Amino acid sequence: MQFQKNILLKNYTTFKIGGPAKYFCAIKDKEELVEAIAFAKKGQLPFFVLGGGSNLLVSDKGFKGLVLKIQDLRLRIKDSTIYAGAGASLTELVNAAANAGLSGMEWAAGIPGATVGGAIRGNAGAFEVEMKDIVRKVEAFDANDLRFKIYDLRDCGFSYRSSIFKKNPNLIIISAELNLKKNNKRKVREKMKEILNYRMDKHPKFPSAGSIFKNFENIRARDLIEKAGLKGKKIGGAQISDQHANFIINTGRAKAKDVLALIDLAKKEVKNKLGVAIEEEIQILS
Ligand SMILES: Cc1cc2nc3c(=O)[nH]c(=O)nc-3n(C[C@H](O)[C@H](O)[C@H](O)COP(=O)(O)OP(=O)(O)OC[C@H]3O[C@@H](n4cnc5c(N)ncnc54)[C@H](O)[C@@H]3O)c2cc1C
Repeated sequence: MQFQKNILLKNYTTFKIGGPAKYFCAIKDKEELVEAIAFAKKGQLPFFVLGGGSNLLVSDKGFKGLVLKIQDLRLRIKDSTIYAGAGASLTELVNAAANAGLSGMEWAAGIPGATVGGAIRGNAGAFEVEMKDIVRKVEAFDANDLRFKIYDLRDCGFSYRSSIFKKNPNLIIISAELNLKKNNKRKVREKMKEILNYRMDKHPKFPSAGSIFKNFENIRARDLIEKAGLKGKKIGGAQISDQHANFIINTGRAKAKDVLALIDLAKKEVKNKLGVAIEEEIQILS
């Protein structure tokens, strides 16, 4: 397999921000994953697992290790079960489910870039549905003891935007079995369209990583940021969206340092003015 050098990570994130990875490889199957981890261990390199880069801010200096881009794109449907490779795109999953008359993934319509692996790891969700509601089994490789393991739903440790895979970065998700519900195709498509229209209307059109901060049960981070008077605030090429205050957008030439400065400002201002400590939902790679 090929280990490429000095690959610009901005091209692999929806934020379109970030410096180079020292080494970069695409992983299509289990054998390649084992080989890549052996390469990292031999060279004493840290590794980072990259899905669609849609929840990620990569530092301007990049990453001095090995980036593993998960590219197992398989999607197979049998009855109401979908078998998905970790690199399969959520958008394709949403479309495949709709075409098969399966309900449960409509909430993810219109999320750009995301993969099944990244979504499971962060227990992604919206409109009161989360990955935990459809995951039945996950297969992961443990880069610590070099074994492949199967996790049933109850072993996945899902909670709001978290899972056992997030808590243990040695666990690399390779595939999943998802359990959806049979429904009328037209109804699934209508729900999808409704969600797609909502996102088109409410989400900014500029490059971003979606919501920067986690919400609380009864308070949305976007309302706190707005109340702190930060809507539209700009630093360098990054801006707190004036359309959705939990989005930071890349207006063209944003650097990671600009986004980090806005994150820092939002945390300080929300804490000082409203007494609430907000916490990042996005992952930061440096
Ligand atoms: C416009 C927009 C709207 C969005 N809306 C939503 C929303 O409604 N709800 C929501 O929850 N999120 C939303 N997001 C955020 C994002 O799409 C999700 O968090 C998504 O699940 C991240 O998946 P990814 O493949 O892009 O992960 P990446 O960004 O590539 O990675 C995120 C983290 O997951 C890890 N990871 C990725 N793949 C694997 C794997 N196979 N095994 C182990 N770890 C892995 C990475 O190491 C990293 O730490 C939105 C993003 C955008 C840009």
